[in-house]
Amino acid sequence: RRGWIEVICGSMFSGKTEELIRRLNRAKIAKQKVEIFKPAIDTRYHVEDVVSHNANAIRSTPVSFAHDMLLLGSSCDVVGIDEAQFFDDALMDVCVQLANSGIRVIAAGLDMDYLGKPFGPMPALMGVAEYVTKVHAVCMQCGDIASYSFRNAASAQKILLGETDSYEARCRHCFLEGMKGR
Ligand code: ADP
Ligand code: MG
Repeated sequence: RRGWIEVICGSMFSGKTEELIRRLNRAKIAKQKVEIFKPAIDTRYHVEDVVSHNANAIRSTPVSFAHDMLLLGSSCDVVGIDEAQFFDDALMDVCVQLANSGIRVIAAGLDMDYLGKPFGPMPALMGVAEYVTKVHAVCMQCGDIASYSFRNAASAQKILLGETDSYEARCRHCFLEGMKGR
């Protein structure tokens, strides 16, 4: 059995979770043993589900530390990880260990935070992945391709679990316009 790492990245509303669920469902059709993890910090909608903005859902296991996935995922064929950007810096090592042991790892997460900076463990993970897929949203201002998550809320807290009212997808131009004077 051969393992590898796939990363699905992009802004909010770009369809990362949708794409993760699609790949995991296909693995299930192939009768592979699949486990989905997400950081325990992400509790919007439902504690036990990975939920896409289009309301697709798949059962998942919340874990506090990236290392928790080593033991819990060791008997799987495929390990899915959603909201990977919220994990600690051990995420890259954990994914490498899982892949080295023959597991297919598929991690979805934000590549940039609301300031447009690389997000947490994502750059490192993208560096060691065999496959990196960047998906895009639609800019809520002009309809172009969007790769930024623009925060409408005033809060400067880095981790703000928000929804449509707090964030919107924006293209580079409209993101820069919105950041003017902040
Ligand atoms: P992500 O996990 O990247 O945040 P999801 O998979 O949860 O994305 O949601 C993707 C879905 O969000 C799309 O299929 C679409 O129905 C919806 N959506 C809402 N706003 C947008 C937007 N601005 N651009 C693209 N899709 C959007
Ligand atoms: Mg998502």
